Amino acid sequence: MPNYEELCEQVRFGTKLLFQELNDPWGHIAVRLPEDDPRKGFILKHVRVGPPPNDPEAVMLFDEDGNIMEGGQRAIPWELPLYVQIFKARKDVQSCIHTHPQVATALTMAGKTVFAITHQSAPFEHGLPVFGGEMINTTDIGAELAKTLDKWPAALMKGHGAVAVGTSVGQAVQNTLYVEQAARQQVWAATVGTPQVLEDPLIEFHRKQPPGDGGLALWYTKMHVHKTGEVHGGHGHGVL
Ligand SMILES: [Zn+2]
Repeated sequence: MPNYEELCEQVRFGTKLLFQELNDPWGHIAVRLPEDDPRKGFILKHVRVGPPPNDPEAVMLFDEDGNIMEGGQRAIPWELPLYVQIFKARKDVQSCIHTHPQVATALTMAGKTVFAITHQSAPFEHGLPVFGGEMINTTDIGAELAKTLDKWPAALMKGHGAVAVGTSVGQAVQNTLYVEQAARQQVWAATVGTPQVLEDPLIEFHRKQPPGDGGLALWYTKMHVHKTGEVHGGHGHGVL
């Protein structure tokens, strides 16, 4: 389990990566504080950078009910109940991310959702759940969203965005990026035919894989490339 400083570094890197990959500054990454931390709650960082004199690397700390503990100089996210209620409902989850991926969100406005279209998106099976489009700014709406998310790795919000979870920051980031990747692939497939859901035996194959070295391949490869600076990846939106 990473310590507090390591978690802060992960959310700092993760938010930069999400901005680069999704080309949108809105959203946050949240991760539970380490179990041995006497403060109970979660770390949260905005993807967007605030105007000066805001420290672009600063994180915020909230208790389990969403009360601010540290970092109150940044604006409290309107959608804080999203994190509070999902952490309460999903004890298996360490990290929760809310973003507004452009293609996946567009699909929701055509009455569609993201499904397993490739091996990478196998966990999305026959389709991620889709919630309404409202702001997640009350306890009740947050609890409803958590109910819709249920045991899924991600859910979409109609005309709004996505929420993704994971057992680590890296896994939640990967789930977010694979939601958008699958959405793009569905649109590409739809231009030449009808996109198909991956065959059930393949979905089952991935469901049964023990978490191994390859489980966070996208996250660790992105981090390595970022640190060494040898390749400036992404889709032409600039560099990390
Ligand atoms: Zn939102």
